[in-house]
Amino acid sequence: MSWEDNVRKVIPYTPGEQPKSRKVIKLNTNENPYPPSPLVEKAIKDFDAGLLRKYPDTQATELVNELAKTYGLKSENIFTGIGSDDVLALSFLTFFNSQKPVLFPDITYSFYDVWAELYRIPYETQALDSDFRIVSADYLRDNGGVVIANPNAPTGEELPLTEIEKIVRFNKDRVVIVDEAYVDFGAESALPLIEKYDNLLVVQTFSKSRALAGIRIGCAFGQKKLIGFLKDVKFSFNSYTLNPLTIAVGAAALRDDAYFKEITAKTVATRERMKKELKRLGFSFGDSKTNFVFARHERLSATEIFQYLREKEIYVRHFKQARIDNYLRISVGTEEETDCLIRALEELVSC
Ligand SMILES: *Cc1c(COP(=O)(O)O)cnc(C)c1O
Repeated sequence: MSWEDNVRKVIPYTPGEQPKSRKVIKLNTNENPYPPSPLVEKAIKDFDAGLLRKYPDTQATELVNELAKTYGLKSENIFTGIGSDDVLALSFLTFFNSQKPVLFPDITYSFYDVWAELYRIPYETQALDSDFRIVSADYLRDNGGVVIANPNAPTGEELPLTEIEKIVRFNKDRVVIVDEAYVDFGAESALPLIEKYDNLLVVQTFSKSRALAGIRIGCAFGQKKLIGFLKDVKFSFNSYTLNPLTIAVGAAALRDDAYFKEITAKTVATRERMKKELKRLGFSFGDSKTNFVFARHERLSATEIFQYLREKEIYVRHFKQARIDNYLRISVGTEEETDCLIRALEELVSC
């Protein structure tokens, strides 16, 4: 017997690489290629460091009020956390306490099975179809809860809202979490459904569409009762999560709707151009509604392309996982970064 027998052993999530060199074209973690809103910069400059003497506002009131205004909700419908990873982890802990398995796709955000293992939540994965689409019928059966990333990662595919609603309606006796990390890049949000379904939790993040991955803000929307349970668990764990600077930055980002629309529209336009170029170069992929394209090449292996791009200091993501190990997830960068990517691929494909 050793103390090691009593250790909670986990296999942690592996985040995408953050290179030291600034020269690298980073298309491997779906960060926004544009800076956050100028109002964010101003909020940081104007921030009163004297505030840091005190503990933060546990309700993140300024941020929650701005979210309420932005999405036409009441503050009782809103939960905030340190990135959506924090929000999702707390949601797993709060809502998935059944002996029955929680359901999520076999190919999806690779943190879900990590949290399930960490909290010892039974789970069963449901296979995506051969086009990498979620089969909604797989979620219409007895279970301990459902998590769907929509659009899904790393496939980029959107499940139509009517299908999401079917899943939520069928599972009215357990919680359905819809992770909308990429929804702002052209997919339809399930947010309007929270009024109708008390078992639906919609999770979003400031990391992708609001260009704030570094500040760590995530949020969840649901009916008052659902959000209340989430808050009870959060306040049993760590009350002081969002600090006052983060709260000010998040609120500032929400106040600049014009900038938000501008940078998301740019990313969508670049994505569509990137799709055309990739197709021309022999890649195939689904209809991404996100800020990345999940693609395979007709002739070259993913490993080969990955290594080649890496030598050119262009980083993309390769998942060494069954079914998807011949695919690359390529984030949508700026127009210039996309030009570099395409030029590099042209060279590779032509030799
Ligand atoms: C990026 C991402 C998240 C987590 O983002 P945070 O930076 O923690 O807010 C959650 N779900 C999916 C599907 C993501 O791609």
